[in-house]
Amino acid sequence: MDIKPIIGIPIGDLPPVEGKSFYGMAPACAEAVQAAGGVPVLFPPGVEESDLARLLDRSDGLLLIGGPDPDPRLFGQEPIPGNGRISPGRDRLEIALITAAIERNMPILGLCRGMQMINVALGGDIYQDLPSQFPGALKHVQEAPRWYPTHGVRFAEGSRLAGIFQAREAAVNSYHHQAVRRLAPGIKATAHAPDGVVEGIERDGEPWVVGVQWHAEDMAVRDAGNHALFLALVNAAAGRPTP
Ligand code: MN
Repeated sequence: MDIKPIIGIPIGDLPPVEGKSFYGMAPACAEAVQAAGGVPVLFPPGVEESDLARLLDRSDGLLLIGGPDPDPRLFGQEPIPGNGRISPGRDRLEIALITAAIERNMPILGLCRGMQMINVALGGDIYQDLPSQFPGALKHVQEAPRWYPTHGVRFAEGSRLAGIFQAREAAVNSYHHQAVRRLAPGIKATAHAPDGVVEGIERDGEPWVVGVQWHAEDMAVRDAGNHALFLALVNAAAGRPTP
């Protein structure tokens, strides 16, 4: 297709401020899609699941962004003390979107929580809290500007991520206290931090499904590899070849 592909982005419900509720999304997510030649369309968390098919009919790809912790009950666990704020409605919406998008052969890029939700939706699980469950974990909640790469990652040879970044290693930002633990069927880990934490996942075959644990949207303006990640989503959504 020569027209710009539409990238659907489910957005979040924020904690109320002075009694008022808001939806929220970092502008960088939409800006990174636009810079890559896509048209972002935001899905509010109150969308009826019965209307998702019509929304997806009008979309070419999905971007799942960061947000609160997935409800551990989704993967058969009770919440531990380190588990943070959850958003059951958003979990339900995103799981329905992931499942439907894959059925339709629609590309998906997951960022941070988005990567974790891909793994959870497809039957995997996550560490609820790295500091209490992953001895030897690096500091994965950085105190530095959003764009600043704080730790390294190593890409699996021959992976989509290695092709997109055209490298075996990269340095990334880090704003997560959770991480993918048991991989879902059909999902492989293709990026790891030096401590062994999974920082990137991909699904075998089609559609194009990639997740990264870092906030690539905050790095995309300054870093060619992270810009290429959004280009790959947009190109996959347009039916063009991509790593
Ligand atoms: Mn990290």
